[in-house]
Amino acid sequence: MIYVIGIGPGSKELMTIQSIKAMEDAEVIVGYKTYINLVTEFIKDKEVVQNGMRQEIDRCKEAVEIAKTGKKVAVISSGDAGIYGMAGLILELTSKEEQNIEVKVIPGVTASIGAAAILGAPIMHDFCHISLSDLLTPWDVIEKRLRLAADADFVICLYNPRSKGRSEHLAKAFEIMGQFKDKSTPVGIVKDVGREKEEKFVCTFDTMDFERVDMTTMVIIGNKSTFIHDDLMITPRGYTV
Ligand code: SAH
Repeated sequence: MIYVIGIGPGSKELMTIQSIKAMEDAEVIVGYKTYINLVTEFIKDKEVVQNGMRQEIDRCKEAVEIAKTGKKVAVISSGDAGIYGMAGLILELTSKEEQNIEVKVIPGVTASIGAAAILGAPIMHDFCHISLSDLLTPWDVIEKRLRLAADADFVICLYNPRSKGRSEHLAKAFEIMGQFKDKSTPVGIVKDVGREKEEKFVCTFDTMDFERVDMTTMVIIGNKSTFIHDDLMITPRGYTV
C-alpha cells in the first residue's frame, strides 16, 4: 500500500498526528531530499528513497514498484499532498496498474492556509489557488485564470510565484490582475511558513515589492473588502459588526 502524506509547510507543530502515524507505519519512505530532512525524527532508520525536485515521475513510479512487492510505502509531499503535490500523480499511476494497490492520502496544512493564519484572516471569503509555474500548465491558461479570478473578485493565493528561471511571471501576473484589483487592495507575503526563516510582509497592490518573493513564498491578494489593521490582513465574511 501507499500512503501519500502531506507533512505541512515545514515545522513539526504543523504536521498532523495522522501524518506522523502513517510515516511511522511505513516501511519505505520516498520523497524529495529537503522534505525527508524535515521528518527524520519520525522515520529513524527506515529505508529511504530520495532524489531531486524535477524527478517526481521517477520517484512516484519507484514508490508504486515498491508497493507492488508488498511493502508499505510513504510518499512525502510538503504542505498538502493533493495541492500541487504527489497525490494526483500516485493515483494516476496506480489507476493504470493491473494489480490493485491501496492508496491512502493523508491531508496536510497547505502553504496558503499556513500563511493565512500568520496574516490574520485574509481568506475568510471565496478564494482560489493559482500556481504561476508554467512547467506543467501553459502560460496562457494561467493568464486566463488570473484574469477571471481577479474579475470575479476572488481572494487569490499564488503558489510557485517566482523562481530563478521565471522571475518576470509575478510582475506579469500583477499586471493582469491590476485590470480588476484596486491599487489599494491588501497583499500579504509570507516567506518560509513554519520554518526558522519565516517572514511576513503586508502591503498594497501598488506597493508590492516583487524582490521580496522567492520560491518558498506565498502571496495572498485580497478582495474588494479586505483591509489592513495592525499589520494584519482581514477579509470580512459579511457579518454586521
Ligand atoms: N503541496 C504544497 C505546494 C507545493 S507547490 C502545499 O500544499 O503547500 C510549491 C509552492 O508552495 C512554493 O513555490 C510556495 O509558493 C508554496 N510553499 C510551499 N511551502 C511553503 C512555505 N513553507 N512557505 C511559503 N510558501 C510555501
